[in-house]
Amino acid sequence: MNLEIVVPCYNEERNIKKFYSELNVTLDRNIDWKVIFVDDGSSDNTLETIKSLNKDNIRYLSFSRNFGKEAAIYAGLNKTTADYVILMDADLQDPPSLIPEMLSNINSHDIVATRRVTRTGEPRIRSFFARQFYKIMNRFSDIDLVDGARDFRLMKRYVVDSILDLEEYNRFSKGIFQWVGFDTKWIEYKNIQRNDGETSWSFWQLFKYSVEGIVSFTVAPLHISTVIGIIFSIIAFIAILFIIIRTLIFGDPVSGWPSTISVILFIGGIQLFTIGILGQYLAKTYIEVKKRPKYIIKEDNLEG
Ligand code: UDP
Ligand code: MG
Repeated sequence: MNLEIVVPCYNEERNIKKFYSELNVTLDRNIDWKVIFVDDGSSDNTLETIKSLNKDNIRYLSFSRNFGKEAAIYAGLNKTTADYVILMDADLQDPPSLIPEMLSNINSHDIVATRRVTRTGEPRIRSFFARQFYKIMNRFSDIDLVDGARDFRLMKRYVVDSILDLEEYNRFSKGIFQWVGFDTKWIEYKNIQRNDGETSWSFWQLFKYSVEGIVSFTVAPLHISTVIGIIFSIIAFIAILFIIIRTLIFGDPVSGWPSTISVILFIGGIQLFTIGILGQYLAKTYIEVKKRPKYIIKEDNLEG
C-alpha cells in the first residue's frame, strides 16, 4: 500500500521533529509512506527544520506567504499521487497512534475520519459558540457537519480527487469533506492539547471562519432576510390602513414622535442587517470571480 501524509504547517518548528519521529514509530515497515509538509509561509524556522530532517520520504512545499490552513490543505492534497492519503496537523493534536487503526478500517470504507468527543482544554465560551455554529449549519445547510470532527482523516484516491474538484477560493474544508459524500467510518478520541506553541486561531478568526462556512454552504440567511422583509411590509401595510381609518374617524392630533423615531431606527437597523447579509454573499462572489490562485509556491522538492 502506498500512503501520503499531508501536513499543513504554520510556525511549527518545535513540533516537526517530534511529529516525524512519532510517524516513524507508528507506521509499519511494509507501508510505502511519504510526508508532504506544506509550509504555510511560516515566520520561524519551520522550513529549515523540515529540510534538516533530510529524509527520502519527506516532500515539502513552501508558500510565498501565509495563505491559511485551507489553502495549505488544498495545495498538499493537490500534490498527492498515492492511493491512500492522510491529512493531519503538525502539532500532534492529531495523534499518529490512531493511524494503524485508521489503516485497518480503510478497506471496507472510502474514508476513515476522526472526531474528538471532548473539548477539554478549550475555553468554555469557545465550545459554546462552536456548538451553536454546528446547530445553525446542520439546520440550514444541505450538509450535516459532525460535531468535533477533525480534519485528521484517511482517504482513498478517488475521495481526494473529488475534494480537489471543488475548486472554490473560499474553502471551508469541514463542509467540503461532508459535501462530497462517500462512506465514512468515524473514530473517536479524547481531545489532546497542542504539543508546543499556541493555536493560531483567535476568537475573531473563528467567528469569520464560521461565517465563511455558513455563506459557503447555505443561502438560508438570504431567505430569512426576505421573510423578515415580507413580514415587516405586511405589518406596515396594516398599520397604515389602521392610521388612515383612525384619522378619517377621529381627525389628526399630531403626537407620537418618539415612537415614530423608534420604529424608523428599528426598521433602519433591520435594513442594514439584511444588506450586510447580502454583502457577505456579494463579497464572496466577488472574490470567487477573480479566480486568483489559492496559493503561491516559493520553493519545493517535489520532483526529487
Ligand atoms: N496552520 C496552517 N496555516 C495557518 C494556521 C494553521 O497551515 O494559517 C496549520 C498548523 O500548523 C497546524 C494546523 O494547521 O498544523 C492546525 O492549526 P492549529 O493547531 O493552530 O489549530 P487548532 O488545532 O487549534 O484548530
Ligand atoms: Mg492544533
